[in-house]
Amino acid sequence: MRLDVVTIFPEYLDPLDVSLVGKARARGLLDVRVHDLRDWTRDKHHTVDDTPYGGGPGMVMKTDPWGDALDDVIADGYEHGATRPVLVVPTPSGEPFTQDRAVELSRQPWLIFTPARYEGIDRRVTDEYATRLPVRELSIGDYVLAGGEAAVLVITEAVARLLPGVLGNAESHRDDSFAPGAMAHLLEGPVYTKPPTWRRRGIPDVLLSGHHGNIARWRRDEAIRRTAAHRPDLLRRSAPDAFDKKDRALLTALGWYQDQDGHWQPPAQDAP
Ligand code: SAM
Repeated sequence: MRLDVVTIFPEYLDPLDVSLVGKARARGLLDVRVHDLRDWTRDKHHTVDDTPYGGGPGMVMKTDPWGDALDDVIADGYEHGATRPVLVVPTPSGEPFTQDRAVELSRQPWLIFTPARYEGIDRRVTDEYATRLPVRELSIGDYVLAGGEAAVLVITEAVARLLPGVLGNAESHRDDSFAPGAMAHLLEGPVYTKPPTWRRRGIPDVLLSGHHGNIARWRRDEAIRRTAAHRPDLLRRSAPDAFDKKDRALLTALGWYQDQDGHWQPPAQDAP
């Protein structure tokens, strides 16, 4: 997979040399290219922003540096044999970045990121490239960062670990919280490793039992408990037939009930 990032803070992307993403780069699974947007400015101050039309606080990133940079990056990618670029625009006004979106992006051969600063990029840039490329405007959460570089790091790490050959154990992400395809969207429950006792704290007996069925049941119960406590919205959205008899007994014991459509609803005092 090829990744291009255009930014006014190339050094902010240095963590892409480290850990999982860094190893994927070293092994040739990821071709990451970080570009300084200011290389495409034409004035001696390397200006990338200007005042907003209509007034108001803050500055807006200018069309020309972005347009020239993206034209060159796209042309360079094609020259090097890359195909089908997807433009990934981090923005708090984008659709939520989820595990499903990570899976979708991990299947693309080439991603081009446009992390912005100030109040964002002049809208015409996204509109222009949307006529030629698929564009994904993505938010990594309901908060506002000072710039999109941290969002690029988040999205890249979530995508890179899904690429074939990146994780040592290909099964590792199958049971992740939010793994798509799971009938119910459950968070992953607690995990433990050696030693069996730490500061007089043991681990659940069932994990030492060697009984795979009981272990799977315990893991699922813990996942349901955790999801009910932290993300009741995920349980409420799950299809009613996603839950087996033991799931239903646990949800009932936790005070959940089924509405007219069969969807599970939290106890009245927990309802969002
Ligand atoms: N005024 C903009 C708004 O409210 O939509 C916020 C601009 S923010 C200060 C500057 C840049 O940081 C954004 O253009 C985007 O690239 C990035 N950014 C901030 N919060 C983000 C989030 N939650 N997800 C993805 N990118 C974000």
